[in-house]
Amino acid sequence: MEIFSESYGSLVFSDHVMKQRLPEAVYKSLHATLRRGAPLDAEIAAEVAAAMKDWAIEHGATHYTHWFQPLTGSTSEKHDSFIEPAKDGRAILEFSAKALIRGEPDASSFPSGGLRATCEARGYTAWDPTSYAFIKDEVLCIPTAFCSYSGEALDKKTPLLRSMATLNRQALRILKLFGRDDIKQVQATVGAEQEYFLVDRALYEQRKDLAFCGRTLFGAMPPKGQEMDDHYFGVIKPRVLAFMKELDAELWKLGVPAKTRHNEGAPAQHELAPLFTTANIAMDANQLTMEMMKKIAHRQGLECLLHEKPFKGVNGSGKHNNWSLSVYKGDNLLNPGKNPHENLQFLLFLTAVLHAVDEYQDLLRISVASAGNDHRLGAHEAPPAIISVFMGDELSSVIDALCTDSEYHRPGKIKLELGVDTLPPFSKDNTDRNRTSPMAFTGNKFEFRMPGANMSLSDANVVLNTAVAEILRRYADELETAGAENFSAAAGALVRRELRAHRRIVFDGNGYTDEWKAEAARRGLLDLPSTPDALPYYLHPKNIALFESHGIFTKAEISARYEVCMEQYAKTLHIEALTMLDMVRKQILPAVWSFSAKLAESLTAKRRLNLGLATRAEEDTLRRCCQLSDTLAAAADALESLIPDSSACTSENAALIYRDKVLPCMDAVREAADALEGLCAESDWPFPNYTQLLFGVN
Ligand code: ADP
Ligand code: MG
Repeated sequence: MEIFSESYGSLVFSDHVMKQRLPEAVYKSLHATLRRGAPLDAEIAAEVAAAMKDWAIEHGATHYTHWFQPLTGSTSEKHDSFIEPAKDGRAILEFSAKALIRGEPDASSFPSGGLRATCEARGYTAWDPTSYAFIKDEVLCIPTAFCSYSGEALDKKTPLLRSMATLNRQALRILKLFGRDDIKQVQATVGAEQEYFLVDRALYEQRKDLAFCGRTLFGAMPPKGQEMDDHYFGVIKPRVLAFMKELDAELWKLGVPAKTRHNEGAPAQHELAPLFTTANIAMDANQLTMEMMKKIAHRQGLECLLHEKPFKGVNGSGKHNNWSLSVYKGDNLLNPGKNPHENLQFLLFLTAVLHAVDEYQDLLRISVASAGNDHRLGAHEAPPAIISVFMGDELSSVIDALCTDSEYHRPGKIKLELGVDTLPPFSKDNTDRNRTSPMAFTGNKFEFRMPGANMSLSDANVVLNTAVAEILRRYADELETAGAENFSAAAGALVRRELRAHRRIVFDGNGYTDEWKAEAARRGLLDLPSTPDALPYYLHPKNIALFESHGIFTKAEISARYEVCMEQYAKTLHIEALTMLDMVRKQILPAVWSFSAKLAESLTAKRRLNLGLATRAEEDTLRRCCQLSDTLAAAADALESLIPDSSACTSENAALIYRDKVLPCMDAVREAADALEGLCAESDWPFPNYTQLLFGVN
């Protein structure tokens, strides 16, 4: 019997497969590229391509594709078969080095934010050898970066790779100061907890809002929501478990280390968490995870919702981005460790992260900004839109002690002098949990909880990596001039100084309260509740300087990304408004009218009998239905009149109109419709309600 561990990675052209199939010299050269970021030797590409093709064909592949991640946030693929006609009329199977290294998709239809005029449609995809190729649906998928004819990044992978490289360079400078010349590579590691909802597919298909917008635009709350907390970690129902089992099995074949599965807070909500790995591979794996979730749900008569807020009134779905810094095959740099010298190193890296999060709060907020996530942030188990960091009691006291030059008393018996050489050791479980914090230090990593469930992991990690790299660069510049003999004292002084300057970002209390909003304002922290509030900070000179100086984005690339995000915000709301109008006029109002007609019929019939039968209930309901349907129709007309003509305004103006005028009007439409849902017979309501959607999968 095949045990499941044997199928793990069976569809991946992994290091293990490469070692078996490539000549030793070729393998070593490729390995140098993979592990040390050495430039790829063009000559070996032909050998890799040949081995990859043979392996793929043996595993049933007929086609190959450059698999890339455009600015839509999802993945793209265009399949080419391996078949090349031979002169004798037969076919040979071909896959050249060129086909492996470079692709030239017609890129005119991908979002570029104006970087590439439609007439210059050429784009390039370039092989990313740091992420393994894999086979999906008989297609060999080669992870690639996607850029324009003139080399501007048009995707999510390119900036992530750039940010990992700059973080590596700056972290190595710091480690060198600590005498760690032996360390050759530092990697950002990421483990992404993926939340999702599962609903019955037949029900899903009856809801245009779910199909077009990924979220419900209407729906009265059922009598029971999540208030009993009985779903979180509850027993997994058979249909859901069958889905989870198949998902795990498929992901394992693709080398995605799915590890944890459980029910989440809202009814019908679940979570999958993989083992962490390097940021780039984690991002690719997460894209595959989302794709597989959708695909396997379909196979099982289900639909997987990855929207950040599919249902009003219950928890939304996030993608908690657990982030740390690791030495290749070695230590976690954010592990507090045991001996004092290591602690200074830990404290320096920790300070750098706090400093980076404080100074680049705006960029972190932007990295999670979308129309969908705006509904989630600040509500129901989601962090508020104000960035802060939770450190837990012990580390908070350490920070306090450092900032105030006072003695640190470790909880328990150990008392330590607070000299630079005797910085206290911390235990791993020094952090409690805080569900309201946007970013929590959880023992040896930071959990950034703001990203929405359907976002690419790229944006948040590009900002984290680059901002931390920038702070490490400044620290290294300063400490390199201190001289080896003064290094510890200088580093200790720097840690104290920067903690004092940036401790305002540390907040361990309840982030949901109004007191925190007021307190955050007092501390000068940014509160950017909506996407159009946040996006303009992209273009702030400090942020352009950050990205340009680390070679992540040029100014043109940043402007392009700003443009794409604004446009996506406006387009999302445009589609939602139109979907709402369609559902109101073609489904809800006609349903209410036919329900009202039945009430009226019943009324007339009773009266005709002339028996003096009571009719109050029908009369009241009919009256309220008529009033509310007028309200609803008027709100829909108002909504229609508010939708801006996007060809006549900039994307910023359109976004503001959607946020300030269209969204409130959509709320009014929804309120009237949801009230009507409460009046009408369930059998008359034109689409499945929240009870059916949230409690329909057993
Ligand atoms: P939680 O208790 O927050 O729900 P989970 O076990 O669901 O925790 O998820 C924690 C995630 O953090 C996992 O994906 C795990 O692999 C990841 N993780 C653990 N250590 C690190 C690290 N050093 N760097 C990045 N991610 C990590
Ligand atoms: Mg979890």
